[in-house]
Amino acid sequence: MKQTCSICLSQDLTSIRIIKSPYTFDDYTLYECGTCHSRVFDIEEHPFDIDAFYNSRPESRENLQPDFTLSPYWLHETKLIKKTFGGRPGSILDVGCRTGDFLLHWPQDITRFGVELSAQSASVAAGRGLHVIQESVEKIEFDRKFDVVTCYAILEHLSEPRKFLEKIAGLVNDHGVLVIEIPSYQTLKARILERLRVRWHMYCPPEHLNLYSRSFLDHYFALQGFSLQKRSYTSGGMFNPFARVPVLRSVWSRLMWWRDAYSPLNRLPIFDHMYSYYVKRR
Ligand SMILES: [Zn+2]
Repeated sequence: MKQTCSICLSQDLTSIRIIKSPYTFDDYTLYECGTCHSRVFDIEEHPFDIDAFYNSRPESRENLQPDFTLSPYWLHETKLIKKTFGGRPGSILDVGCRTGDFLLHWPQDITRFGVELSAQSASVAAGRGLHVIQESVEKIEFDRKFDVVTCYAILEHLSEPRKFLEKIAGLVNDHGVLVIEIPSYQTLKARILERLRVRWHMYCPPEHLNLYSRSFLDHYFALQGFSLQKRSYTSGGMFNPFARVPVLRSVWSRLMWWRDAYSPLNRLPIFDHMYSYYVKRR
């Protein structure tokens, strides 16, 4: 039985559901923390070699191609970050940069650093001319800070989230921007699935271990000198009821892209990919 919340470190966990792992088919207890309202799994509940798990899932072959094409998704994201920063940043660190696609959407004269655990992805990113360190960010001694630090789909995987959060908060320059993207259970989609007793796909232990509450993130980063500038919720392009009908599928995915990127509806917690843009005030 897990005692301590890995996110806020309080001893206020209540077991709320049992979730079957889609990978190992083991039953994992889902806990909710009464102090920070985050939800966590206990990686120790079943013996599992998480490093071997990640190493056994190589990038798909397309993702490892040295060529790369600009994506409207990442172009939009760079625009949002520039707007939040109030101009063009001088340096950016992408934690969990995969093969470097996002970093390549920034011009070469901006210092572009990536951190990536997968040796295969890191070597593709390095081959594309990026500075890439293949190591956990917590273990890297940086001799600099960055105007922008981004973490897309990383925080939910961590077995020791506190060390990671503290490290990334310390890597942002004053007036710099920190972008965090995580799955949020505090959204309409996740709540409806919960009502229907259907497993939300983001509950997938032991791959995902932490589902942070909004209030925890905002409070934690406020204590580190950050304030929230913008928050949006996207479908991540994963919600398509017309997946089997080619024309409708394409129309629907364009509509969803517009909704995710431009509609004011993306400020409401409907879909489950939550983007938070924080600015460091001191
Ligand atoms: Zn907690």
